[in-house]
Amino acid sequence: MTRNTNAPTEAGASRGRLETTTASVAPLDGALWLVRHGFPVFPCDHPALTRCAGLHKTCDGSRGKHPAVAFTRAWTLDERRVHETFARGLRNPAVAVGACSGPDGTRLVVVDSDRPGAIEDVASARGEQWPATMRVWTAKGHHDYLWAPAALKLGNGLGALQGQFEGDVRAGNAYVIGPGSLHASGVLYEVDDPGRPPALAPPWLLDALVTKPTFAPQRARWRDASRQASRSARGLVAFVLDSRPGDRNNRLFWAACRAAEDAQDGREDARGELLAAAVQAGLDEREALATIRSAYQRTGATA
Ligand SMILES: [Zn+2]
Repeated sequence: MTRNTNAPTEAGASRGRLETTTASVAPLDGALWLVRHGFPVFPCDHPALTRCAGLHKTCDGSRGKHPAVAFTRAWTLDERRVHETFARGLRNPAVAVGACSGPDGTRLVVVDSDRPGAIEDVASARGEQWPATMRVWTAKGHHDYLWAPAALKLGNGLGALQGQFEGDVRAGNAYVIGPGSLHASGVLYEVDDPGRPPALAPPWLLDALVTKPTFAPQRARWRDASRQASRSARGLVAFVLDSRPGDRNNRLFWAACRAAEDAQDGREDARGELLAAAVQAGLDEREALATIRSAYQRTGATA
């Protein structure tokens, strides 16, 4: 990736020079590319160092992957700080996943395939197509970067993909090794297409990942409101989205009562969509959750 970008770097590397000094130039180049594209960066150990630069007391030996700082706080989006950090010593750049916000309040989720095409296979097994999205090639496979609704509170769990997907999912309080990093095997992490941004995570993936219910005991299901939700749920979602500051909570409460009645009547439960819509309308997520819960309790539904 760094070899494809036209962005000048402090190293001032020409193409040729970059290729001959990849191991030392690539980390700074990769870190700069990341922050310029809005991904919070921090330094990790680098396998060419004689000792692991990780913060831990004892190293498990997986070199090049251990955070050199307390990454949930010590990440940066500042180019100057990146220059300081990555010029000081050899470090692999990594992305603080939970610190990364996308368009419309979305959060970053990274799908880590242990072999090329692993996630595409999961998609096609479900009759779906994997979206073209930002991809970083790793030693074994690839990291696919996607935006997901913050309301879903994704973590590192695989949900329904457990046992079906050869890989991991990273969201929330997690990190991934970034482009420009060197793997202990000698493979350089590289962006597949520097011009391709993260896509919105497909609804089927979100649905599969949400195993821990936002609302116990029933699992909240994320659905593409415009395409898959029932006509009734769509109307309720639109009603919430149409709210103005001041009446948002009332409208959410009203819609949640209707949704609870629908669910009791055996129609599709729209709680997940309503929460996402409320957050999109500008309501605080926790407040929205409390409002929906109270509406469900009011109507005697399980909340
Ligand atoms: Zn270590």
